[in-house]
Amino acid sequence: MIIFGFRRRGKRLGVIALPCRNCASGQLVLHKMTRWFTLFFIPIIPVSVRHVTVCPNCKAQRDVPRDQLEHVKSLLPATS
Ligand SMILES: [Zn+2]
Repeated sequence: MIIFGFRRRGKRLGVIALPCRNCASGQLVLHKMTRWFTLFFIPIIPVSVRHVTVCPNCKAQRDVPRDQLEHVKSLLPATS
């Protein structure tokens, strides 16, 4: 018997200085959300990747459009 499914994993990439469109907060947290195809509960293939910003103040979540992703990523504090 083959057990397969999908699993979603989120990774916090960092805080960016962008205004929230929902409240007055000037900071958003960027997350990378990966949807995995799993086989026997082990993630095998990343099916889709999307980036979202979450406001730490009002919890509003927004998708980052692909054409804005590079710009948003450039706002992340330089680590590593
Ligand atoms: Zn907000």
